[in-house]
Amino acid sequence: SQGKRQQTVTVLGATGSIGTSTLDVIARHPERYRVHALTAHRSRETLLTQCRRHRPALAVLDHERDAAWLRERLVAAGLPTEVRAGVGALVEAASATEVDVVMAAIVGAAGLLPTMAAVRTGKRVLLANKEALVMSGALFMDAVVRHGATLLPIDSEHNAIYQCLPSEHRGGLSRHGVTQLLLTASGGPFRGWPVERLASVTPAQACAHPNWSMGRKISVDSATLMNKGLELIEACWLFDARPEQVQVVVHPQSVIHSMAAYSDGSVLAQLGNPDMRTPIAYGLAWPERIEAGVEALDLFRVARLDFEAPDEAAFPCLRLAREAMAAGGTAPAMLNGANEVAVDAFLAGRLAFTGIGELVERILGALPMEPAGDLETILEADARARRAAHDWLQRR
Ligand code: NAD
Ligand code: MG
Repeated sequence: SQGKRQQTVTVLGATGSIGTSTLDVIARHPERYRVHALTAHRSRETLLTQCRRHRPALAVLDHERDAAWLRERLVAAGLPTEVRAGVGALVEAASATEVDVVMAAIVGAAGLLPTMAAVRTGKRVLLANKEALVMSGALFMDAVVRHGATLLPIDSEHNAIYQCLPSEHRGGLSRHGVTQLLLTASGGPFRGWPVERLASVTPAQACAHPNWSMGRKISVDSATLMNKGLELIEACWLFDARPEQVQVVVHPQSVIHSMAAYSDGSVLAQLGNPDMRTPIAYGLAWPERIEAGVEALDLFRVARLDFEAPDEAAFPCLRLAREAMAAGGTAPAMLNGANEVAVDAFLAGRLAFTGIGELVERILGALPMEPAGDLETILEADARARRAAHDWLQRR
């Protein structure tokens, strides 16, 4: 508004949970934001509806067959949207010169190349796709600095911590008086369950998250606590923290989204209803604030805030992530690759819930890690971990 230039936005993973919430916030502020590109994997019907509503210059699907289907309908509707298919088109959507802001909301390793492309072209990158940062760590953060990108965390915990840190927090937390990051976790749908009961839980049970409505992969990750493990790694890279500076605190109400503790005893927290439109709006408008459509927090209805320690014996994935971060190099990429295969197998009914951690632990124990010097090395490590995980699933 006030004569400011409209920001041009690409939404990678537009049809997902984060993607649709992003478009909801954007639609509330047409004077501020214009959509350049929308991308999806296979959901062509949803993408068609979104293209009608937001009239992007470019739409991207994975397969040419789906792209042809969409192209035909958009032409019939008289829309000028160009439709393309494949990874090259995703990279183009993320790095086009006219794009100011990229919402990285593809799930999993598939988001790494387009997210990196956005970083390397110096965009404002709104990072939801935590797997991309977990895989590429130092390389990603170096590229942010080198190419002058603006990185804003969308994961609610990291967005909360970002809001609780001083605006200039580069160069190590202790330099700014921060002693610890307190990463809150809902504990997922199986919080407090004994390990014996976990072996037989179903995908439907694992995807029924108590506080958040999310895509299936992150829902399963929340149930195993791998999500918190990935977030621990994410926090270390985003905030230049050592793993021991990040404490996971189970907080079942999901009202405190995370906290930063300072050397004078202060603990700063960010609170809000569990609605991803808050961190999304924060990322879009930063350093300003905009309306996000989120209901005001009613503390009387919340009534109480509880805290407990995570049960790492029942949920080994948190420990595995911490170990992968300590091992460094390509270990986090292998952890992530093995986990993606394990989660797919669990969702397809081919692996028990407790098999997810077991499979990830085996792969990490079996494969050597290397320095993660470039993207190619990282993608090879990811592929190797996936192959080994598939082999193990087949051999059982
Ligand atoms: P989702 O499954 O709802 O949506 C994923 C999106 O990515 C869809 O648009 C899908 O079409 C696209 N996609 C999937 N596979 C793809 C592929 N191989 N190539 C190209 N596009 C592909 O997932 P989500 O819940 O929106 O999560 C997206 C990312 O945001 C994840 O990394 C997740 O960890 C992170 N995140 C989500 C939430 C949440 O509340 N949903 C919160 C924090 C972080
Ligand atoms: Mg989160």
